[in-house]
Amino acid sequence: MSDMRLVLLSCCAPCSSGAIRQLADGQISGVSDFIVLFYNPNIFPESEYTKRMQEQIKYCEKLGVKYAVLEYDHDAWRDAVRGYENAPERGHRCSLCFEYRFRRAVKFARDNGYNAIASVLGVSRHKSQSQVDTSSQNVCDDVQYMPVTWDEGLRVQINRESDFYRQNYCGCEFSIRKV
Ligand code: SF4
Repeated sequence: MSDMRLVLLSCCAPCSSGAIRQLADGQISGVSDFIVLFYNPNIFPESEYTKRMQEQIKYCEKLGVKYAVLEYDHDAWRDAVRGYENAPERGHRCSLCFEYRFRRAVKFARDNGYNAIASVLGVSRHKSQSQVDTSSQNVCDDVQYMPVTWDEGLRVQINRESDFYRQNYCGCEFSIRKV
């Protein structure tokens, strides 16, 4: 697709740093405009959500790229994954979580004149990129899903040079690692 007006669904600054830089530098062909979307009602507790959101905003503002932050509807997210609280990471709870976030991102894209969606939800080594791709394709229709493979080396390099706040669990209360 040419003239792609892209919504980049992001979970946090460390996962999105390379992707945002690539988009800002015009390295992804066909993208004429993009916005970073922070929509993560899965994150718990709210204080953790706020930390990740603030770090995301700081990085976007540093690079001078557009961003949007949507509602923190954690109770509704809990309803969406109900019955799968004890599923393992990469299990069905995560598919429901991805679909929930992509569904809202698609609505945001439609409402704001964007025609494509990409994400960094599969970037972490704890995640399955193919699971993210399948979940997004289940909910994207007229808004096209772009399964971009981001430059991992660039992301690692930026993160090494940055003092990002870094979390040690995916996001929801069920992913908090017991130490
Ligand atoms: S582990 Fe991560 S992807 Fe899976 S349900 Fe929790 S927040 Fe969502």
